[in-house]
Amino acid sequence: MYPPAFSYHAPGRLDEAADLLAELGPDAQPLAGGQTLIRAMKLRHVRPRHLVDLRYLDLAGITQHKDQYTDGHADGVRTLRVGATTTLTACEDAAPIQDLWPLLTDALHVTADPLVRNLATMGGAAADADPRGDIGPVLVAAEANLHLAGSGTARLLSAESFFTGPSSTALGLGEILTHIDFPLHPGSGGCYLKVNRKVGDPALLGIAVQLRVVHDQAVTRCRIAVTNAGPTYVRAYKAEECLYGQPVTAAAARRAADIAAQEVHPHPDRDAPAPYKQALIRALTHRAALTAAERASGSDGRAVEPVRA
Ligand SMILES: Cc1cc2nc3c(=O)[nH]c(=O)nc-3n(C[C@H](O)[C@H](O)[C@H](O)COP(=O)(O)OP(=O)(O)OC[C@H]3O[C@@H](n4cnc5c(N)ncnc54)[C@H](O)[C@@H]3O)c2cc1C
Repeated sequence: MYPPAFSYHAPGRLDEAADLLAELGPDAQPLAGGQTLIRAMKLRHVRPRHLVDLRYLDLAGITQHKDQYTDGHADGVRTLRVGATTTLTACEDAAPIQDLWPLLTDALHVTADPLVRNLATMGGAAADADPRGDIGPVLVAAEANLHLAGSGTARLLSAESFFTGPSSTALGLGEILTHIDFPLHPGSGGCYLKVNRKVGDPALLGIAVQLRVVHDQAVTRCRIAVTNAGPTYVRAYKAEECLYGQPVTAAAARRAADIAAQEVHPHPDRDAPAPYKQALIRALTHRAALTAAERASGSDGRAVEPVRA
């Protein structure tokens, strides 16, 4: 099936793209990898009359730098910055992501399939905000910050405030997600685990855990985000709290997993009833917390194989 007719625009500069989107208004949509958008157009779920291609804006790439927000550090936080049009494959292959962000590496390996990952972009995966998506919960657990640019405007949002509901984000009309910043805290490690029916399928359930530990292995920072448990990615606040101030032993991970399964109330869907999802929350939180702690205690953040519970 062909998509309905549309005009194609390929601006070469960010300000040009933002101005164009502002000028064209609700009839226009940004185009990134097109993996979701073109399919949705073919199915007549959306009918934009203009597509503004973001791939010529020089946004792709992965860099490390110190950002202006300090988060208690006098000289700013070191961050890994991923440009919005960087493909999922490029991220998967990038040494800094493999070395410093095992949480994201885990998620990239299980997102869609290699053909889709070759075209789909980090910005598209975030802006798509599929409640069953794998990248969104990682951004929430990673405490990532998202840079948005509009016509003459720029703002920075935390991942948690970016995702507002099913397939809905805080992006304003015509706004472009330009970069995603992942803070680099020493002693951090994470893990993403997903259960799906077969390769390429969305998550029946997924758990993202990111931890920071100090010398005695006690947890000083913790985020747990769940995918496909609600209208958007759900945080397991009480489970996070129970991990603070102590090493993540098998017993502590089990306690956190039990709490997560009690506090998150997943909605049933045609693929998985709620009790099954609750069992997955318990099992995956346990494993992901242990693996995240193991990776964090390596202090260099290098990926290790997930712990099997
Ligand atoms: C067969 C298949 C299987 C998949 N399986 C999974 C899976 O298992 N897990 C998973 O997480 N995802 C999955 N996906 C989704 C995929 O990984 C991408 O997240 C998705 O296709 C969007 O990326 P894209 O770059 O193609 O964006 P596009 O399709 O180009 O755009 C998607 C939406 O985001 C908007 N947009 C894109 N970039 C920006 C930007 N920089 N600023 C503002 N708005 C923007 C577009 O206007 C559009 O509304 C699957 C997709 C397919 C086709």
